Amino acid sequence: MNLCEIVERLNRNNDLTDEEFIFLIKNNNSISDDLLQKYAQKMSQKFFGKNIYLRGLIEFTNYCKNDCYYCGIRRSNKNAERYRLNSEEILSCCEMGYNLGFRTFVLQGGEDGYFTDDMICSIVYEIHSKYPDCAITLSLGERSKESYKRFFENGADRYLLRQETSSKSHYEFLHPKEMSFQNRQRCLYDLREIGYQVGCGFMVGSPNQKAEDLVKDLRFMQELKPHMIGIGPYVPHKDTPFAHYERGNLELTLKMLGIIRLMFKDALLPSTTSLGTIHPKGREMGILHGANVVMPNLSPLNVRKKYMLYDGKICTGDESAQCRIFLEKRLNRIGYKVLMSRGDHPDFTK
Ligand code: SAH
Repeated sequence: MNLCEIVERLNRNNDLTDEEFIFLIKNNNSISDDLLQKYAQKMSQKFFGKNIYLRGLIEFTNYCKNDCYYCGIRRSNKNAERYRLNSEEILSCCEMGYNLGFRTFVLQGGEDGYFTDDMICSIVYEIHSKYPDCAITLSLGERSKESYKRFFENGADRYLLRQETSSKSHYEFLHPKEMSFQNRQRCLYDLREIGYQVGCGFMVGSPNQKAEDLVKDLRFMQELKPHMIGIGPYVPHKDTPFAHYERGNLELTLKMLGIIRLMFKDALLPSTTSLGTIHPKGREMGILHGANVVMPNLSPLNVRKKYMLYDGKICTGDESAQCRIFLEKRLNRIGYKVLMSRGDHPDFTK
């Protein structure tokens, strides 16, 4: 098999055979890497131009009932200093974000039972009433279909829930046995059915991940048809059972971004914080490989360092306003423009 021919075929057909995907994932050469990057950039520009959507991320709780082996805020990490924002604090993040131009707020947190469905509904409702021109994205883990429905009815538009891996045995390697592979996928299908713009995704280079597992992720996403796909390298956290595993590889993450852009042509693809963590120009590189979204942090400065999913997480020391200005400059430098509109998926623009 020839790598350049495979990339040509992926660009033409937006798909490959499993064998071709595996070959492309496992092998490298600079000519085919450049070709993939060129096509991914072209595809992204065809749908979105040289525009990057910004989303304001509010990390509202780091309490979590789950114990994922890779995650720094897992419940067994006794070194994690726990915090929760109350609804006024969340709303004041939105206010600051709104004044900085953000029109999407992403509420992300650990799976924290303190926030009942009623509380989430009322927070969503308040944000929606105060900022009716903004999109609300939730990312609070697995809940029942009924709960997701109530959040939606109260004004939530989008939901991010990474499948983490689409291989059952790999899922069971990454998570303790009380966590269910099937339930996570069930959530994603429920969210889609309710009418959310749905985001899934996975870590690249998570412990024990094989090229075959990545292909399963691609196949799972072909079936789910998500509107957003978040991928980033696995980065170890010192206080987790997986502390000793190596971080995910930059080149492989960029390659997966390029592949995903060519397969899911008009999807919203963030260039993630973890990508920016493993390389100082990581987020720019992500954009140059087909990503079209960046999610700057709007959380209050005093909690930033506590939402430590992995070691070395960037943007824990800058004011939101500063982050926003820096980011815009950096994107301009690579020839891209920041767009502050809601940035719905093309299927959802009314
Ligand atoms: N509780 C929410 C939010 C989880 S944090 C949920 O279940 O969806 C958001 C994402 O961070 C996770 O989905 C995971 O893919 C990623 N993440 C967690 N630990 C990580 C690590 N060590 N390295 C890289 N990404 C990590």
